[in-house]
Amino acid sequence: MAQLNKMGSSKRVALIAHDNKKKELIEWCVYNKTVLAIHRLYATGTTGQLLEKALDQSITKFLSGPLGGDQQIGARIAERKIDVLFFFWDPMEAQPHDPDIKALLRLAAVWNIPVACDRASADFILTSPLMHQEYNAILPDYSQYIKRVQK
Ligand code: PGA
Repeated sequence: MAQLNKMGSSKRVALIAHDNKKKELIEWCVYNKTVLAIHRLYATGTTGQLLEKALDQSITKFLSGPLGGDQQIGARIAERKIDVLFFFWDPMEAQPHDPDIKALLRLAAVWNIPVACDRASADFILTSPLMHQEYNAILPDYSQYIKRVQK
C-alpha cells in the first residue's frame, strides 16, 4: 500500500529568496499576510529576518542559504517536516551555493512536495483549497531502491 505524507490543514511552509528576489517575495508575503498567518513559517536566515519584520509573525530561521540554510531545509523535507516550499531563486545570476540549490530542488521532487519558484506559481499554490485542508500526499515508493544491493 502506498505510504502517505499526511499534511495538516496548517502547513509547514518554507520560504527562501535569493537577494535579487527578496523584494518580490516580501511583497508577495505581505500581500498574503492573513493567509500565511494560518501556517507555520520557516526560512533561510536573511529571508527569515526580513520576513519576520515585514509580517510581524514568528518564523523559524535557519542559517543563511549560502552558509547551509538551503541544506537544512532540504534535510527537513527529507524528514517530512516541511510541507510546501516557496523558493524564489534567481534565474539571472549564478550563486555561490548553486549545488545546494540543486540539492534542495531535488529533495523536494524526491519527496513529492509542492514547490513554487515564481510568484505566479506561488499564487496558484497558496490559493489552492488543499493549502487549507488536510492532504495526504502519496510518497514515492523507494522500497525497491533501498533493497537494490541485497538482491
Ligand atoms: P538567505 O539565503 O535568505 O540567507 O539570503 C537565501 C539563499 O540564498 O538560499
